[in-house]
Amino acid sequence: MTTRHCLHCPNPAAHQRRVCNPCRNRLYRSNRRNRRRPYQPRRDPEPFNIDTAVNTRRPLPGMTSEERAAAGVQLTAHGLSARQIADIFSVTTRTVARWRAAARTTQAA
Ligand SMILES: [Zn+2]
Repeated sequence: MTTRHCLHCPNPAAHQRRVCNPCRNRLYRSNRRNRRRPYQPRRDPEPFNIDTAVNTRRPLPGMTSEERAAAGVQLTAHGLSARQIADIFSVTTRTVARWRAAARTTQAA
């Protein structure tokens, strides 16, 4: 029997499932799974979500906008262009420019 890898991250999937338990919980809490569930934004960004998105260069489902912005800024440091980052997160290049500008001002302050 071979262990399956999670669809969304490098972790092994849970037994007889296509996703790992952290990803299952993330999907369950995100408003992507069931629109009738009220959206509860998670306040503090989780480093695991940012690191995984940067390492796999794919967005995790249910990432907060803060996490996407942080991952975009880190991918900039990895040498990716605004076009490439925009394609990864399905945003416009203008949004990536906004993330970069916000990171610059918080670093300067
Ligand atoms: Zn996973």
